[in-house]
Amino acid sequence: MSTSPATTHESFDPATDADWDALRALGHRMLDELLDAQRALPHSPAWRPLPDAKRSLFDESGPRTGMGADAVYERFRTHVLPYGNGNWHPRFFGWVQGNGTPLAMLADMLAAGMNPHLAGFNQAPALVEQQVIGWFAEWMGMPGASGLFVTGGTMANVHGLAAARFAASRQRDHDVRTSGVQTWPGETMRAPLVFYGSSETHGWAYKAAEWLGLGRRAFRQVPVTEDFTVRIDALEQLIAEDRAAGLEPFAIVGTAGTVNTGAVDDLQALADVAARESLWFHVDGAFGALLALAPSLRDRLRGMERADSIGFDLHKWGSMPFECACVLVRNADLHEAAFRQQAAYLGPMARGVSAGGQRFNDRGLDLTRGFKALKVWMQLQADGVEKFGRIIEQNVRQVQRLVALIDSHAELERLAPAPLNVVCFRYRPADQSSSDAALDALNTELLQRLQEQGIATPSSTIINGRFALRVAHVNHRTTLQDIDDLAEAVVMIGRETHAAA
Ligand SMILES: *Cc1c(COP(=O)(O)O)cnc(C)c1O
Repeated sequence: MSTSPATTHESFDPATDADWDALRALGHRMLDELLDAQRALPHSPAWRPLPDAKRSLFDESGPRTGMGADAVYERFRTHVLPYGNGNWHPRFFGWVQGNGTPLAMLADMLAAGMNPHLAGFNQAPALVEQQVIGWFAEWMGMPGASGLFVTGGTMANVHGLAAARFAASRQRDHDVRTSGVQTWPGETMRAPLVFYGSSETHGWAYKAAEWLGLGRRAFRQVPVTEDFTVRIDALEQLIAEDRAAGLEPFAIVGTAGTVNTGAVDDLQALADVAARESLWFHVDGAFGALLALAPSLRDRLRGMERADSIGFDLHKWGSMPFECACVLVRNADLHEAAFRQQAAYLGPMARGVSAGGQRFNDRGLDLTRGFKALKVWMQLQADGVEKFGRIIEQNVRQVQRLVALIDSHAELERLAPAPLNVVCFRYRPADQSSSDAALDALNTELLQRLQEQGIATPSSTIINGRFALRVAHVNHRTTLQDIDDLAEAVVMIGRETHAAA
């Protein structure tokens, strides 16, 4: 027996004027409370764990009937909002996660409220996306490039590499979109496709190799120099050896800002090698490509403007809420040739909703796509791109300050060069007697206490076999005082932990 007869209309909209008014009041409260929470961040703990007593809520089975919007918002307010991982906090320094911004939060609300479908079509939101892509293409030295907003740097890089694989196969009269990388009966055996990047390349490269059907073996890791950038001589040697062994090199990946240490590969030299060897040149600029927006730092990217494709995030150093990233492909025709899919139900009309315009679904995997570009479009126009650049410069200065504090303190030891916004270091007791194994254990404990006490949230990595505290700084909310407080807290907790050991 149905409780709602088929004759009764139902929708997720409020049913009456009074219901609309109630939802409006709740919406205003949500907005006020979210903005208040952001405003209070400097005086809030960097992180607090979800108490055991509150966990049972998340074991409840799926609701058959509703409790109403007010009640479920109350659950969000008491059980979710206070217990995030803290990446919006001024003393969050871990993993390269951006903060988000209040304006972009509101823009995401507008995007979700309007809810346009960004496959393309004859609509203003498609023009917004195309315009933002055009701006970044210009700023990154690739004017006129094709582009696509995607979820993250991983997807952006995978799309760049997929375009590279397509370009390589086309050059060899092989239709990779029809045959894949497999050899079918009647075809001549094809050599395995391989691509190159340094041993500091982010893990996306293996995911891409697997997903594109190349296999993990296809990602050829090149050793790095002492500053953690790719060794050009070793790269050239490996390419020569691979060719001699019957492999088919097709692309070189340069990293602008490695995840471990913030190293920027010699992109100019990589572009030279790619040109000489007729290989596609992709730049993983997940956070580092945004140096292009900072006048005092953009020199570090010299050579990136010669890339065939660039992947970068806006949810890291661009401070946009997740998820927001972009891939640029220099050759616009090739970009669409690599992904375009004909479908009867998507056929364009001469006029009407589907006429003309952009076809973003022809530039990547996603068909249904949300309005990610709106927040970027609004924040950029509200503040100007120069402010984005100044915040990047501010973060680099703050990391230089932290480096100075580390290098001048007898109990702090830096474990890698810090050329940009990432610094790896550890606490080392004044007696200097501890072994590396003891220091690994000490710093592991130190990091957990630092996070649990809600003081600050760096993350960790392993540098040359040693456990390192890692500050990867893309935080627009951090002040110099936060940096000083972090250094002081590491020493204090380091001493406590050492004394207790
Ligand atoms: C973060 C990062 C990625 C992956 O980007 P996501 O947005 O997390 O998918 C790739 N490369 C580098 C250098 C990164 O820092």
